Amino acid sequence: MKMPAKTILSDFFFPERCLICGGVIKPGEVICGECMKSAEIIPRPKCPLCGMPANLCSCGAGGKFYTAVTSPFYYEGKIRNAVRRWKFDGETDITAFWASAVASAVTEDFPAVKFDAVTFVPQTEKEMSERKYNQSEILAEYVSRILNVPCKSLLVKTRETEKQRTVPEFMKKGNVFGSFAFSGGGRYACVLLVDDIVTTSCTIDECAKILRMNGVNAVFCASIAMAKADAPFKV
Ligand SMILES: [Zn+2]
Ligand SMILES: [Zn+2]
Repeated sequence: MKMPAKTILSDFFFPERCLICGGVIKPGEVICGECMKSAEIIPRPKCPLCGMPANLCSCGAGGKFYTAVTSPFYYEGKIRNAVRRWKFDGETDITAFWASAVASAVTEDFPAVKFDAVTFVPQTEKEMSERKYNQSEILAEYVSRILNVPCKSLLVKTRETEKQRTVPEFMKKGNVFGSFAFSGGGRYACVLLVDDIVTTSCTIDECAKILRMNGVNAVFCASIAMAKADAPFKV
């Protein structure tokens, strides 16, 4: 995967050890060669809607509110472990690396798109108080700086939901239905919606629905990693 060198140089303090495994790195690196080699990068060509290669595309005939989604990595192996440590254990040194990888995927997969705003999947106040921060918001802010597009809080989460990984497939859509509302934070024609991980597209589609109902014409989505469709309960 191409990483924009400018971004890495401006956003990283250079760590002494690999940000994923803690192993030895060469000067100027942030991730060791071993981790880069073992990271499961989602190969191109990707389905323009679900962002998966043809063998994992599960779009079917159902329409979506969002326009397209892309992620640099599968939610597997070392990437999955590193995302979990970032998300749950507060290992934030790696945020700039994730943002750089997400921004690269966005510019490569949506090359002609001009975004008016970057936004993010929100959390409820209870979730915020438990976690202390919304990792999707932090990621969106980094991505917005790399893409030079303003980051705007456009959505609020209005009720608690079960974790998508804990509910069966047929209930995932209902679990998030009606759980987001428009924040009133401005109207934009074309928005990039950032989430940390996409395990099913139900959450981003529900967010995209609210944005579309509030004047947004196109909602492109991006995350660090996407779960392979056959492994939704491995999260
Ligand atoms: Zn490593
Ligand atoms: Zn697809």
